[in-house]
Amino acid sequence: MARIVLSGDELEGLEIDEPAASVRLLLPPPDGDRLVIPAWSGNQFVLPDGDRAPIRTFTPRRLDPSERELTLDIVVHEGGAASDWASSAAEGDEVAISGPGRGYEIDPTASDYLLVGDETALAAIAQLLEVFAPTTQVTVHVEIADPSARLELPPHPATTVAWHELGEGSAPGSTLVDVIAGLEEVPAGVWIAGEAASVQKIRKNLFDERGLARARATVRGYWKLGRAAT
Ligand SMILES: Cc1cc2nc3c(=O)[nH]c(=O)nc-3n(C[C@H](O)[C@H](O)[C@H](O)COP(=O)(O)OP(=O)(O)OC[C@H]3O[C@@H](n4cnc5c(N)ncnc54)[C@H](O)[C@@H]3O)c2cc1C
Repeated sequence: MARIVLSGDELEGLEIDEPAASVRLLLPPPDGDRLVIPAWSGNQFVLPDGDRAPIRTFTPRRLDPSERELTLDIVVHEGGAASDWASSAAEGDEVAISGPGRGYEIDPTASDYLLVGDETALAAIAQLLEVFAPTTQVTVHVEIADPSARLELPPHPATTVAWHELGEGSAPGSTLVDVIAGLEEVPAGVWIAGEAASVQKIRKNLFDERGLARARATVRGYWKLGRAAT
């Protein structure tokens, strides 16, 4: 995981009111280190050479309006434009952001919550833990591909956290699919994010097999194995 702190006067006026919101990050083109602002072609943002602009979605982990700083936690993995950029970024490098995209509205009537995700969901899970009422019982399950991804999560008095290490060769999200399949009861509030195919299996379990009302659970695909984000 690379923690990136963006700063600049351009952050003036940015407001993020909900946890687990998103921002879009425009990266420099792969063959250059200077940012190129793309044009809207009608259905996508393109660079002057016609290539699709490298834009990726991240959770604004922390916004500090007084310092005009925005912190992102970016998972470092094999062969990704954002991952490559984040692992070699240096002070002074330029990116652009747009947003925020809508976050998650906590159900204040839910006495217990289940938060489930992989490393890409850690920033959102951390934010949710910061805003739950102290009396809400929260169970967290996080899948990590590498033990070093285990972060200290914000303290919450009624939370239990389980870390699941993904075995080599296992499909991403498979430990989380097993967690959901093994639940005896589903808590009143549910927030889940991770790899698209695994969250699809989780949706099937919760909504089709258990008949959970869709309004009770937010289940989001944050990335897709084998496909670059657009
Ligand atoms: C609302 C929202 C919030 C998000 N918040 C965060 C966040 O806070 N931190 C974060 O790191 N990600 C977050 N993501 C996920 C992130 O947008 C994707 O992981 C994105 O694909 C990363 O871009 P990339 O350029 O590194 O890889 P891409 O160029 O998009 O993908 C290249 C290859 O890498 C693979 N890949 C992509 N992501 C991963 C991964 N995490 N692990 C292993 N392989 C991967 C793809 O399958 C593809 O084969 C969020 C996504 C959404 C929709």
